[in-house]
Amino acid sequence: MSADLLIRNGWVIDPSQKLNGLYDIVISDGRILDVERADEGQATEPIGARETIDAAGCFVTPGLIDLHAHVMPESTQLGVRADSVGIEQGVTTLVDAGSAGAWTFDAFLKEAVEPSVTRVLAFLNISGDGLCKGGAELSDMSRLAVKDAVTLISEQPSIRGIKARMSASVVKANGLAPLVVAKQAAREAGVPLMVHIGNAPPALSDVLGLLDKGDVVTHAFHGKKGGILDEQGQLIPEAESALARGVLFDVGHGEASFSFRTMQQAKALGIAPYSISTDVHVRNLNGPVHSLTHTMSKFLALGYTLYDIVAACTAAPAKVLGLEREIGTLAPGAHADVTILKKEQVPAALTDSEQETIFAKETVFAQQVISSGKVLTCT
Ligand SMILES: [Zn+2]
Repeated sequence: MSADLLIRNGWVIDPSQKLNGLYDIVISDGRILDVERADEGQATEPIGARETIDAAGCFVTPGLIDLHAHVMPESTQLGVRADSVGIEQGVTTLVDAGSAGAWTFDAFLKEAVEPSVTRVLAFLNISGDGLCKGGAELSDMSRLAVKDAVTLISEQPSIRGIKARMSASVVKANGLAPLVVAKQAAREAGVPLMVHIGNAPPALSDVLGLLDKGDVVTHAFHGKKGGILDEQGQLIPEAESALARGVLFDVGHGEASFSFRTMQQAKALGIAPYSISTDVHVRNLNGPVHSLTHTMSKFLALGYTLYDIVAACTAAPAKVLGLEREIGTLAPGAHADVTILKKEQVPAALTDSEQETIFAKETVFAQQVISSGKVLTCT
């Protein structure tokens, strides 16, 4: 057998196939060709490959997916260059969560999709402008673009869902009305809806009531008033029933939207985030977010296993995107997107969005990344 690339000796974590052990990954023509158990003490030379990576001492995972980022650097004030938070940080797929709307999507293609090595996908803002005209994009109902969004989704495979931000500062006097419209558009287009939650109104209990199985709540573990937990640290009933019917809770760390305290309380109730994402943008890139791997390190410090954390950054977001056979997996036939992670046993102080600090005994960072079979080094 001859292949383009062989990744040997690494500890493979691929929750999509329940793999957690020593495997060799064989890559050919930009796709995963095979995953083979590496038997200890036995030279695995029979596979001939033009290039070999020795991943000894590293974790080899499907290419990481960040389900919530902002990568429209020219038309929005908060956007960052996609590759700087994507491929250069070991993230092979980025999902921009609502920077662009139907009326600004052409600019998004030019600024984010076309110039990037990183695979850039989008949740389309239900506001036609997206975030290109400031942060109150759902305060004027005449700027919501249902028909145009539905049409665009049918034409653009990089759009995987619809985004609506349900905070008082975004919707102003409109309350739940923009969410009702966004939900209708998502149903019509057959895609999931991602809802940002923040300060009421609208109340979270009302927002959750409108969501279906497969819809995503981002910023689910924020530390503001009116979140998923009540004052006694118990789940509010609407959050409990949302989880029970398959609504997915995403992290979306951001500058103001992730609290260790909330996460620890939720963990004590047996709740883990479905997906771990950053909400990275210019105002949190240099702290508290930094990168997806930095965010993953926070979950290690909170006591989640690396296996569960990797699942929340690979198989889980891939499923939200409806791309679970293509990305977020090392199954034969999938895109050869691979992240090589290293754990560093160096104590670190990690900070959330509430300026709370926890101490981590170890952190993870991306050492190398393979994007559709191409080998790149991370910064
Ligand atoms: Zn965001």
